[in-house]
Amino acid sequence: MQRVDKSNAEWRAELDPERYAVLREAATEAPFSGALSRNHADGSYVCGACGAALFSSTAKFESGSGWPSFFEPADAAHVELVEDRSHGMIRTEAVCAACKSHLGHVFEDGPAPTGQRYCINSLALDFVATPKT
Ligand code: FE
Repeated sequence: MQRVDKSNAEWRAELDPERYAVLREAATEAPFSGALSRNHADGSYVCGACGAALFSSTAKFESGSGWPSFFEPADAAHVELVEDRSHGMIRTEAVCAACKSHLGHVFEDGPAPTGQRYCINSLALDFVATPKT
């Protein structure tokens, strides 16, 4: 996919401070604070920084965590997995493959068919509804 490479100053100018903190500084939003955790409409979830297509509503499930949860990315090449040893834990961080923005983490307690739970900040995503025909 097309790489997006911007300086911190450019991202800071483009993104709301709370989105900058999540996407570019790997902050975690408070659970149940994000609008998209409760979104059940059909559509595509794209990167809040660069617009890359990351997740589909068809893979979204109700995890009860308070964060948008998906059992797989829309395209494995669009979501990069990185070992994260911050905060005294070993976790798998999910980042946008195009712009390297932080999205959330991946856990192995998800539902079938993958058993994975992509636990993603609502602030890291924009939702593009499928047009009704
Ligand atoms: Fe991105």
